[in-house]
Amino acid sequence: MEHDTLSDLLQAHWLLYDQVEQFISGEESKEQMPDFSSFAESLAEKPADEFRESVDKANISQLASLIRVCELCPLSQTRLNAVPGMGVINAKVMIIGEGPGEWEDKSGVPFVGRAGKFLDAWLQSISLSRDENVFITNIVKCRPPGNRNPKPEEEAACEMYLDKQISLVKPEAILCLGKVAGNHILQRQGTLSSMRGTFHQYRSIPLVVTYHPAAVLRNMSLRRDVWNDLKMLAAFLKLPLVTKRGT
Ligand code: SF4
Repeated sequence: MEHDTLSDLLQAHWLLYDQVEQFISGEESKEQMPDFSSFAESLAEKPADEFRESVDKANISQLASLIRVCELCPLSQTRLNAVPGMGVINAKVMIIGEGPGEWEDKSGVPFVGRAGKFLDAWLQSISLSRDENVFITNIVKCRPPGNRNPKPEEEAACEMYLDKQISLVKPEAILCLGKVAGNHILQRQGTLSSMRGTFHQYRSIPLVVTYHPAAVLRNMSLRRDVWNDLKMLAAFLKLPLVTKRGT
């Protein structure tokens, strides 16, 4: 990609993301736009292995910029916006879902719409929030067409971004949402019910798998299992439960 095009693209994505964050938080942006010109110059026309090297050296916002212009798998051809993730580093919990849906693809922000609001309520019920102590992302950063499951080759192409995010965010625990995310992280082919209700380990980080909020919205009888998983996570992290539970 040409340097000027890449620089323009990075600036446009940053502005969009900043506007959506302002909309969600209801506060004016305090961040200054980074110098994308020199960053774009360092990336333009790089072969794939050098691009990977840039990923290795990136900080969390540089990594988001790299994801927004990534063309390493065919999902880049059908996405409106890549969705790198949002939240804080040194998070209490890193939330990992399967992939962006329609609203995430439109906004570039993870877990918006009904499922996103539901997830925010779950987090609130155990004293967590995406603004304060959580980082939210997905195993693939671009929307699979029609919300189909990501293909193994798409998951593999995107894996380096999730790996790098986990290294940078250094979460105390990971919460995987849904069977696809759980199976990807734990490298198995299990049912959701076989993975939930217990702690796993991923790179020595305690990990819990529970239902995806979209699945719970379709079947509200799953709320009890989700609440039990959230309480287990909260007890481990010594997080107070908030009386009005979100599930
Ligand atoms: S899904 Fe991941 S690997 Fe594929 S284009 Fe998007 S960011 Fe790149």
